[in-house]
Formats: sequence, structure tokens, C-alpha cells
Amino acid sequence: MEKWLSLWSIGQNGTPSDFTAIKQAGFDGVEIWAEQHRSKEYLDYAKQVGFKIGMHLPFHDLNLATPDPVVYERTFHVLTEWMETLSKYGGRHATFHGGYAWSSEERDETLIRIRERLLSLNEKAKQYGIELLLENLIPDKLNYCHHIASNVEEWLDLIHEANIKACLDIGHLAVMGDNLETTIAKLGSALGAVHLSDNDRKSDLHLLPGEGENLSKDLNNYLEAYQYSGPIVYEINPYKYSLQDIIEHITKVNV
Ligand SMILES: [Zn+2]
Repeated sequence: MEKWLSLWSIGQNGTPSDFTAIKQAGFDGVEIWAEQHRSKEYLDYAKQVGFKIGMHLPFHDLNLATPDPVVYERTFHVLTEWMETLSKYGGRHATFHGGYAWSSEERDETLIRIRERLLSLNEKAKQYGIELLLENLIPDKLNYCHHIASNVEEWLDLIHEANIKACLDIGHLAVMGDNLETTIAKLGSALGAVHLSDNDRKSDLHLLPGEGENLSKDLNNYLEAYQYSGPIVYEINPYKYSLQDIIEHITKVNV
């Protein structure tokens, strides 16, 4: 397995020397957070240091499942542009959110729409040599909007139908209330990346491992049991921790 860092975790003012420090701490790769102010500079720094590169595609104001054709066109265009940029840096994977239905009553028709759109997006991804990873999201507990995918069965269906892979966010999964080992077993070879952070199973706090309910306890054993060898991406709250905190944690423990 490979140890990666989400660059969301380093905040908006990362420097080339931060990237060197991340490398020295033993990280193999970085996941570019496309929405950061300096994500393009971060791509350059990552390349200079020799990291493996992936990307978390942008999602704010971009609803891939929208009923509005103009919003969809814009979303598709922005995601495609980022995949093109990522491919120029030799990037491997692009994690993305499936968007949401405006109301839970519209869930079924929204799922029909998103199925087609995932196929189109994957056509583009293949052109750029990028592997698309659909991330599991936290359900809207009010049941007002429906986030895609916020239950495991729906997630698996979409991944298999579109022939894409999954980014398993273990913090989101805990808030969804699903079991980690069972979910890893169900994903099997469709698992493309893991997002690692801790929380209290109620809120998506993005804590360092061990500072919440210790969600990543036994994670490595489960992943090994199902022959997973891809990225484990630390996705840690930059508003609570510094890069130094993360590096100190990493030097103390293995994943
Ligand atoms: Zn995400």
C-alpha cells in the first residue's frame, strides 16, 4: 500500500520546502485539491519532488447530477479540463463527487441521469488516461437532498455500471453507519483509493487517526486481506492541524 497526503491538509500556503518535508516523512504521493488557490503551483511542486499524483476534482457549485442542463454543461467542462491538466502531470486517478438530487423525491430520476453522465465522464477520463474514483458521501439526514452516492448499494451499482472505481472515505463511511470490513469486501477490486481520517461517527471532523473513534483500527489488515495495494490518502483537517502535526503523527505510527 502507498501512503499519500491530500493537499487539502496542508492549507492554501504550501511551499516547495513543505513538499520536500512531506516526501521526507515517507509519503509516496499527493492528492491535489483542485479548489485550492494554488493547486496549479502545487502540481508543479509535486512533480518537482517526484510524487505520484492524483486529484480530488472540484465539487462546489458543480452538481454532476443537476436537472439544470447549463449547470451540467459547466460541471462537465470544468471536470474535463482538470482531468486534462492532471494528465499533463502524469496523474493517475481523479476522485470526484456524484452530486445530489435537489430533493429526495427526485432521487430515482436523478440516478437515471447520473448513470448516463458517469459513462460520458469516463469516456473523457479514458482519453486522458485517468482512473475515475467515485467517493462515498454522507447522507443528508433530513432526507431533503439525496447525495450520490450516500448508501453502499447505490454506490456499488453506479461503480459497476459505469465501469469506474471507488474512493472509500472511511470517515464518511462511519457517519453513514456502515461496517468497514464488509464494505471493503463488497468493493473488492473496484477499490481505487482510501481517504483516511478519524471522527466521532457523527460529524466529518477529519481528525488525525486515533483522535476520534479510531476508525482506521484494523484498516490495513482488511485491505491486505482483500489484496488492496493502492493509495491510502491522509485527508486531515487543515483548520485544526499543521503540516508539522501530521508529519509528527506519521513518524510515530505506521498507517
Ligand atoms: Zn471528497
